[in-house]
Formats: sequence, C-alpha cells, structure tokens
Amino acid sequence: MPTQGAQAAKPDNWELESKRRELLKAFYHSRSQLGGEVETDDGDSDWEDETDSDESDPYGEKADAAWDKLDAAIQRNPARYVKRLRQLWEQRVRHEKNKELEDLTSHISGFSQSLEDYLHPDDIDEPSEEGRRMATFRDLYRAGLTAVCELFVQEDDFFQEREDWISEVLRIIGQIVQWGTIETEDLGNWPAIYGILRLTRITCANVWANRERLLDDEKSIVYGNQNGLRISVAQILFELDLLQDNNDPAIRKDIRSTKIDVRRLEFFVWISGSPPNDLNRAFFGRETFIPVAMSDTLFGKVLETFAEDPADPKNRTREARMHAFLRDDVLSVYGAEKFMHRLNASLRESRLDMPLEGLLSMIWEVAIYPVVTPHLQTYGTYIAIREVCDRQALHGDTEVDQCLVLAQALWIYRRTFTHQPAAEIAYIVRNCNVIELIARYVRLYATLGHQAATGGTDPTKPLHIVQMYASFAEITNLRSGKNTLRKTMRNTLRQDWYPTLHVLRTQRDDKLWRGKHRKQLTDLLIAWTALGTSIGLDEETERRDYEREVKRMSMVCAWKECKYHTEKPPTSLHSCKGCGEVKYCSRDCQRKDWIDGEHKARCRRIKDASSGRTGVLQLH
Ligand SMILES: [Zn+2]
Ligand SMILES: [Zn+2]
Repeated sequence: MPTQGAQAAKPDNWELESKRRELLKAFYHSRSQLGGEVETDDGDSDWEDETDSDESDPYGEKADAAWDKLDAAIQRNPARYVKRLRQLWEQRVRHEKNKELEDLTSHISGFSQSLEDYLHPDDIDEPSEEGRRMATFRDLYRAGLTAVCELFVQEDDFFQEREDWISEVLRIIGQIVQWGTIETEDLGNWPAIYGILRLTRITCANVWANRERLLDDEKSIVYGNQNGLRISVAQILFELDLLQDNNDPAIRKDIRSTKIDVRRLEFFVWISGSPPNDLNRAFFGRETFIPVAMSDTLFGKVLETFAEDPADPKNRTREARMHAFLRDDVLSVYGAEKFMHRLNASLRESRLDMPLEGLLSMIWEVAIYPVVTPHLQTYGTYIAIREVCDRQALHGDTEVDQCLVLAQALWIYRRTFTHQPAAEIAYIVRNCNVIELIARYVRLYATLGHQAATGGTDPTKPLHIVQMYASFAEITNLRSGKNTLRKTMRNTLRQDWYPTLHVLRTQRDDKLWRGKHRKQLTDLLIAWTALGTSIGLDEETERRDYEREVKRMSMVCAWKECKYHTEKPPTSLHSCKGCGEVKYCSRDCQRKDWIDGEHKARCRRIKDASSGRTGVLQLH
C-alpha cells in the first residue's frame, strides 16, 4: 500500500463534500438513536441482545464493562480482530446465532459508524475519542476488513444467516464504500478503489439474487414502514454513487462499469420503496434524516448511468441504451402500472420546498420514450403533474420556483402535443386545463424577466410552449361537426387570454425587457395574440369584458360565495393589503377567499416569499 502524505490537499469540491457529510452524519445520528426502537413483527426477543435480559446482570453493568473491554482490545490491535472475525466466521454454525461472531461484528460496525464525524483527513488522528475510533476503523480497513466482508457476501447462503447479523454486515460494507471516498480522494490512494468496487459488485450481486428480502413483508425488520435491509442496501448504493472518477482511464472504467452493473438493483430499491410520507417523516424526524431509500436520488442515479457505457458492445447512443433499459428492465419486469404509480407517488408526496423541478425533469427524461409516453395518461401521471403545479402555487413558493416548475411540467405535456395522437392531447386539454398553466407560465415569465424565469437557459422555451397549443388549436378548428373540443378550448382560453395579453403589453415597456431578450417577449406577444385570434377571440370584445370585470370587481366582494359577490354591498369594501387588486366586504370573506378561494395562489404579495399570510389578512 502506498504511503500517505501527512496531510492531503483539499479536494476541489470541498464545500459540497462537507455539506453532504454533514447531512449523512445527521442521518446516521438519527438512525443510531432509533436503534432501540426498532420494531419486529411480533416484538419477540429475537432482535434484542441476549445480554440485555441476563438475570445476573439486571442493569447491564457487566455487559457494558465487557463491551468496553472488547472495544479497547480492538483499538489496541485492530489487525488481530480482523483475523479473529474471519476465524469466527469460518467456525460458525450456519444459519444459527453465533454470539461471538455477532458481537465482534457489532463492535466493528460501531467503529465504522465513527465516519459519521469525518469531515477532513486531520480528524482521523485527532487526539479525541472520535479521532481514535476513526483511526481504528482505518486500521481495520487496512488490515483487510474488505476481504473478510467479501468472504461473507460471496456465500450463496449469506441471506439465510440471521437478519440482524446480515444487517450489521451491510452497514459495515456501506461504511467501507464511504471510506473509499476518503481513501481515494482525500488520502490519494486511488488503487484502493478496485477492492472496494469489487466488494460492492459482489454484495450487490448477492442482494440482487435475494432481492425479495428487501420487500416489505411481515418478517422483516422495519424502520417506519420501510424494510431495514433495503435502507442498508440503499446506503451502499448511495455511497457508491459518491465515489468520484479520476483521470486514470482504468479507474474510470471500473467505476462506470460497477455503477452500470448495479443499476438494476438500484432501480429495484427505488421502485420497491415509497417516498417519504407522513408516517416515515414522523418516524425519521426531520426531512434531512430521510434515508436515501425513500427519495428519488437512486432513480436519478440510474438515469445518469446511461451517459457512458464502456462495455456496450454495440456502442449505442445514450438514448438507445436507456430505451432498452426502460423496455427490458423496467416495463417488462415491473409493468407500466407499478412504474407510473411509483412516479405519481413521488409527485404526490413531494415536499414542495424540495427540488420538485429535478423530479419533473427525471420524469421528462423517461416520458419522452415511446414505450413510456402512452402510460402517462392511462395511469394518471398527467393529472398528478397538474396537481403538483397547483399544490406548489398554493404552498406559496417563490414565483421563480413556480416558473421553473411550470416550465418543466409544460415541457412534459409538450412531448405529448408533438408526438401523441390527438385523442391524448384532447385528454390533456380537457382534464389538465393546460391552457391555464400556459397562461400562468407566460405571465410569470413576462413579470420576472428572461434571466430570472429561465435561469438564462433556452431562450425559445416559452415560445415553443405557446406554439404547441396554437398548433393543436389550428388542427381542432379544422374538425367538422359539433366540435365540443373547440368550444372547451375557446372557453378555457377566454378566461386567461386578455389578462395575459395585458400583462405582456405592460411588461414590454418594463426595464427588465430592455436588453437582448426583448425579442423573446415580442415574439411571445405575437404568438399569444395569434393564439386568441385563431380560436375566435376578438380583442376588442375581450378587452371590454375584462375592463368591465375589473370595474365590477372593484364594487363587489371578491369572495365568490358571498351574497355581495353579485350585488353591490350596502357598506364600503376593503382592499386586500397584499395586492390591492381585490376587495372584500368583511375579514371573514377575505379569509375564506384566501384559503378556499385560493387567492393565496394569485395574490401578488406571494412574490415576496418572506411575508407571512397573516400580513396579507389585514384589511385596510
Ligand atoms: Zn363578502
Ligand atoms: Zn391579494
């Protein structure tokens, strides 16, 4: 093994790495605290350490002393205990409780958990308890812990051993893979990566062969409502994904191939899990503790593996590889229903202050494949996307975030508009009221300016989105007969067309649009005007109606169920302090409109995300 410099240079992505480690630390911490509360199917004592119920040691004092003694012995001579671990394993009674083996495994797992505190190479030799424990884990690793773990998971009957021992072994392996990042990136010992990758591949191959053990069933140890083994396996995969490439082509190739090797398992872990729902949030505590097994991180990592495949014999494109995977390893194996329902669950359970845009962009990545697209309608994904847009607007997210999410959602719908049969487009028009989303997006875009609304990317996106609807409107116009679809399109567009046109016109003179992006707004204005005309809306009529409505609204209570919504109230009205655009006859009506009438989503005050709702509820 090459000797290490006394102090490794900080990697380039130091800040990012530190953040991730802090998050992981928080996660492990939450898990270790939960250790005592793990549930088994019937609460029998199988899971408990036998020493806990030892009658001669009611307070566990002897057990504590014995634990400390073994810990100290391991710290004094780590290499000896790696050998001992192997010996105990060779002498074990298969599939039975082997107390000494299990105890030693728990101790080593305990040392491996010290990496929770790791932030910098200097931490390892700190003269503190944590520093010493990290150093012990390093020495266990260097004394061949990887090879011993490899022996364990190589056995075909590894998964027939006792579940709590399996669980500890998988935890240690996860920590060895994490150590891989430290050993290579921080300490510069890149050749160490081969052994760690091999251990990962062997582990994952065995897990794959026994993957039904990761499913939720009566017998498994669960955290919240999540299978404990699945969480441990997810952690190994997550650590693998954090292993970085370096410039050595052989290392690069081995990392890529390993990630490709395990992606079927990674997908399995993702699709078998559920996103963090209320039960799991309650169980795991704060959102940052939610284990990776319950997030969409693994799905995202699977998608990343298609970029480059050194072993692809046909040297196909990324798209061809991904298409084959979706067809052969997803749809044929799990069926479209299960896949789409898992995606819908993520949309429905998504925390709105988490990166929803990322989830939508993953959905877009798979939705564009003809083997997937038709299922978006069948299994309700179009509706789930529509709902998440509304939920996000109501949640009071910033306008910039709303705009990014709308753009991504509309981009998924656009795929259908450009590639799917008219019946499917009509479904979206009718059931998702997509024109209302487009209008909302166009207004946000015009108000925020190109830079803020798009992050400076893809200058033609808004125009493409308006045009997708316009082209379909043109086709619909040509249809003969009763043409109820045209009527629907006209009625839904009418509500938003002139108000949006008004915003576009007003914004054109704003200083936001003085620069090089002015053309984008002008083009958008032309396209939006043409859309209305093509669907039979007359600007003069719509303007008069709009102005009449604005005037009427200034004289009545804005809450639609108030009796003074249609007739002039006897007393004077008060404006919404947030936007000044609507008036109410009473506080009660304002509160109802804010919550039930969803004024919360429309009120301009939302622009300032820091303002609480109570501020808006004050009347003039
Ligand atoms: Zn009222
Ligand atoms: Zn308001």
